[in-house]
Amino acid sequence: MKTLKLFIDNQWCDSDKGKTFDLTNPANGQVIASVVDATAADVDRAVAVATRTFNSGVWSKMLPDDRARIMLEVARLLGERALEFAQLECQDSGKPIGETTAIDIPSSMRALAYFANIAREIKGEVIPIQGHDIFDFQTYEPYGVVAAITPWNFPLRLFTRAISPALAAGNCVVAKTSPLTPLTSGMLGQLFLEAGMPAGVINIIHGSAEPGQALVSHPDVHMITFTGSEKVGRSIMQASAQSKVIKKMILELGGKGAFVADADCDIDAAVNSVLVGFCLTQGQVCCASTRLYLHQDIYEPFMKLLIERAQKIKIGDPMDPQTQFGTLMNQTQLDNIDQAIHQAVNDGARLVTGGKRLIKPPLDKGFFYPPTILEVDDNALDCVQQEIFGPVLTVKRIASLDEGVDLANDSCYALSAAIWCRDIKKLFKAARRLDAGTVWMNMNLMSTMEAPFGGSKNSGLGREYGTMGLREYMKVKNQMIYLDPQEPDFYGFSTAK
Ligand code: NAD
Repeated sequence: MKTLKLFIDNQWCDSDKGKTFDLTNPANGQVIASVVDATAADVDRAVAVATRTFNSGVWSKMLPDDRARIMLEVARLLGERALEFAQLECQDSGKPIGETTAIDIPSSMRALAYFANIAREIKGEVIPIQGHDIFDFQTYEPYGVVAAITPWNFPLRLFTRAISPALAAGNCVVAKTSPLTPLTSGMLGQLFLEAGMPAGVINIIHGSAEPGQALVSHPDVHMITFTGSEKVGRSIMQASAQSKVIKKMILELGGKGAFVADADCDIDAAVNSVLVGFCLTQGQVCCASTRLYLHQDIYEPFMKLLIERAQKIKIGDPMDPQTQFGTLMNQTQLDNIDQAIHQAVNDGARLVTGGKRLIKPPLDKGFFYPPTILEVDDNALDCVQQEIFGPVLTVKRIASLDEGVDLANDSCYALSAAIWCRDIKKLFKAARRLDAGTVWMNMNLMSTMEAPFGGSKNSGLGREYGTMGLREYMKVKNQMIYLDPQEPDFYGFSTAK
């Protein structure tokens, strides 16, 4: 059986205490690998290596062209092994192979290449100062050691989303993978080795809360990029507050995406868009559309088509190229979703499709759960307000687009929203009022490398992707020099002489 080790200082290592854990394929329960489980002592070791490497300047002072060459080579090597990585991602996470092939692996390659290329364009800025002849300029510098902690739902994609800008900006990285899906991110270490990455620049560890906590409270870590749940995000803020050194952080947390459909929208296209919005990756997506606000004038035909198509999505073996919808991640996910649906029904929601685990062979060995739709009258219900993180959509009838926007904004999350309306002026005005980090107009669920992605409120802090995403990984230094012949004599000592 394959054993995935820790990758520290360009070496494959065991853990301090020799601990390991098994990884199982959620579609069939088969053990697919054994993974070395890092301890707090392993975190200390990895951070010490990253700190020493950062201070040596071997990476932070390397010419951007040379840094880019190494990262582009990693992207190229990943391209060469794309199918193998896509298959492992599928077996590790339960996503359909069609998704890992078309989305996860290409987007991971693109993150490495995109940030490698734009890092060559990091420039400073000159700032005109009023009232003094001062030359003032601002430069951007790496933080030092960046801790990257990622979740299980888009394993390699979110791992590369975090480490690529961190590295491109000249930081050294200690990255902790999700204990549920560490395979592809861990194997990226091998590609960094083959691409000639200097030792100690990227260190990859595995394990759950213990190494995570040790990493986010380590005094030599100066920045944290975290993607995961609101609960752990809050604990990271607390750890930073109590740590010897306060850390810069990006927190990419949960969401409860709204989808507002106006009376004039293209029903056929909008139904497809809602479907992908809550079914991609079995709905285990932070920016999934999980709250549909549907205009009363199109409610019945829209719902008929939506239910019909939701029931036709092909659920099955994630490794089968025909499969459109795979398995949930694990028993915990299944229990959480099941419980949320039971509670919703007790609270007055009406279950119109799904809502029950699929147990007919061959699906009985996995955690297969169908697309589930709940009609609701009350926006305050838990099923509308809380992230369920599964293929569950609530639908509420609205009398106007404005009402839909008000209900969409009535949420403690603000990550993403979609709005569908043919009247362009109305569409733009409504989009302007939506409180979300990304608003999709007559489209849905697209996150591109070039545009910033992130949220506010309980969806977190900061942005990933785009030039803004690169800037997040650099601290600003303002520098100034007085150009007048004489320095100002504030206390008058020199003038008095
Ligand atoms: P999680 O918060 O349970 O775990 C995320 C990572 O944090 C894992 O690597 C985990 O081991 C680690 N961790 C756990 N406890 C820790 C601690 N005390 N200190 C430090 N690290 C710790 O999240 P998850 O279940 O893996 O992922 C699902 C969540 O992620 C959902 O809420 C989803 O919305 C969110 N998510 C957000 C985005 C985004 O871009 N906003 C993207 C994907 C997923």
